[in-house]
Amino acid sequence: MPKINLLPKNVAELIAAGEVVERPASVIKELVENSIDAGATVITVEIQRGGITYMRVTDNGCGIEYSDVPTAFLRHATSKIKVGNDLDSISTLGFRGEALAAVSSVAKVEMLTCTADSDFGTHYLIEGGEEQEYGEIGCPEGTTIIIRDIFYNTPARMKFLKKDISEANACAAVIDRIALSHPEVSFKFIRDGKQTLSTTGDGNVKGTVYSVLGREFSNSLIEVNGEVRGIAVSGLTCKPVTCKPTRNSQFTFLNGRLVRSGTVVAAVEQAYKNSAMIGKFPGFVLYVSVPFDMVDVNVHPAKTEVRFSDEKIIFDAVYSAVKNALNSGDTRPEIKLKAPAFNPFEHITVNEYKQQKIDTEKTVAEKVYKEELGLHNHNKTVNVLRDGTKPSFTSKFSFVGDDGKKTEPMTQKEFEEKIITTNTITEENIKKIDNKPQVSVNITREEEPDKPDVILIGEAFSTYIVAQMGDSIFMIDKHAAHERIIFNRLKKEHETQVQQLLSPATAMLSGDEYDAVINNIELLLNAGFEVEDLGNSAVAVRTVPSFLVGENIPSLISEIALSLIKSGTVSTEREDDLFHTVACKAAIKAGMTTSRLEMQNLAETVLNSKEIMYCPHGRPVAYEIKKRELEKQFGRIQ
Ligand code: ADP
Ligand code: MG
Repeated sequence: MPKINLLPKNVAELIAAGEVVERPASVIKELVENSIDAGATVITVEIQRGGITYMRVTDNGCGIEYSDVPTAFLRHATSKIKVGNDLDSISTLGFRGEALAAVSSVAKVEMLTCTADSDFGTHYLIEGGEEQEYGEIGCPEGTTIIIRDIFYNTPARMKFLKKDISEANACAAVIDRIALSHPEVSFKFIRDGKQTLSTTGDGNVKGTVYSVLGREFSNSLIEVNGEVRGIAVSGLTCKPVTCKPTRNSQFTFLNGRLVRSGTVVAAVEQAYKNSAMIGKFPGFVLYVSVPFDMVDVNVHPAKTEVRFSDEKIIFDAVYSAVKNALNSGDTRPEIKLKAPAFNPFEHITVNEYKQQKIDTEKTVAEKVYKEELGLHNHNKTVNVLRDGTKPSFTSKFSFVGDDGKKTEPMTQKEFEEKIITTNTITEENIKKIDNKPQVSVNITREEEPDKPDVILIGEAFSTYIVAQMGDSIFMIDKHAAHERIIFNRLKKEHETQVQQLLSPATAMLSGDEYDAVINNIELLLNAGFEVEDLGNSAVAVRTVPSFLVGENIPSLISEIALSLIKSGTVSTEREDDLFHTVACKAAIKAGMTTSRLEMQNLAETVLNSKEIMYCPHGRPVAYEIKKRELEKQFGRIQ
């Protein structure tokens, strides 16, 4: 029978240290959290060789009293809680009283600390858990803690460390996260003598995100702000079109602490469900504040996992805040043209140019080139079309007329005139068209003073509607747009008009399809399909949404059944999938002829709605090219 021993203090501490002190990055996390708990507003972190030989954290926090310093390095020594009940209302990052004890048992630790009401500071040195020095010293208010040679006395643990660069990256990632969680604290990070991060500490989330995550990420964000039953959700989330292939840009801060929360991630992703492309994940920085009694942070030594007393409320709060942000922000993607945007020319020398037979030029473009010829020396390069013909902007434009036919190619000028005559309804026109007194015109204008007119320019490739509104041109994918419009209409509490079929359509289904339909009769009814069970895998369809009249109903029902089989058990998801299938079926297709009136209607609906940014599968509905962007490309402005 082996004898049972009580482990010596230093062995027990080494074992405990394993939980908290895994690698330099975990030490940095604990130390910086201590600084934040101490009320610091400026924190500097310095590491050398990935933190393995040297880590320093300096803060301007409250400091530690001379007599308390050795106690701080004992296990279960903490100033943050006193009694068990305090665990239910933890507002500090630390509370377990383990970090300093753990670190000092596996490294050489030096501390300089001074409180506001003390004339002198404390110098404390502790190695492998053994006190080496304890005395007074002159130092500024706050605390500096230096950790040297981590795991010097535990070679087995040392072996698990990765290359310096990986450890340094892990430290940097920790600082990034903490800096994001506390925009009100100014952080500096110095890595092998080089400063790699600096945040202002002015409390501005966007500025902090910019410093930490860079320009590209911060430019694509929309603000989130919401509160449901005492749960406040704020921060930033990315536009659906900038969703990423990984979840690496997702940051959740719960009551100021970085956490991993499946509930929060699921809620955000659900909010993106009909906007983001499948397989892409939204990037976000969200600050969730929850009453302390609703969350248990004491389920993991590193406190990164949390448990909520009611996951559903958290889910709802996050979902609705993010969904609202997506619905109200302008998340439409913009096309940034690359300079030069499009160059049909290639460069040849003047002599080569002269070889070409040039007709008498008529266009402005040609004149410009001729002037260049006369003015400049012979090595000057000029632009000539690739096939050697004259550079000209003629015969480039055409559009689809009311009859759905393409017009003859025309010059830009003719094209512009045509557009103006076809589309612009001037005030005079309005007066002429309807003979109402001018007042009524004014009233309609006052109602929506900011809504600019949508001018239909035409259609490209029988697929993309080109329209102008305000200072932008929009390319609208007509199928995606129409699909989204129908989808939204279906979702809006069943505004759908229903049409009774003259004779019910009978659909013969496979066993699985039949089960899916029968189990979702209610759902189908809400979507406008009144379905009757005929038994033997057959159903009769009595009504359909009116825009589906004329479609092949039995095949549509079996398509719907398939989508119901594929979709999960969540009823909203199932409903969405059903609506997708219907919307996709009923929407006009790319390549189909669409009248100018239909296009105008579609363009107006899309451009005047903030809800129609993405098709139900997450493809963008419209792209925007700003006039400014064009002017830049054409060199009209810098
Ligand atoms: P915990 O943070 O869980 O309380 P630690 O071992 O990390 O445990 O710290 C022990 C105690 O030392 C803290 O409760 C705090 O009182 C004190 N302390 C640690 N670091 C600092 C600091 N940077 N400034 C002021 N006090 C500190
Ligand atoms: Mg701590």
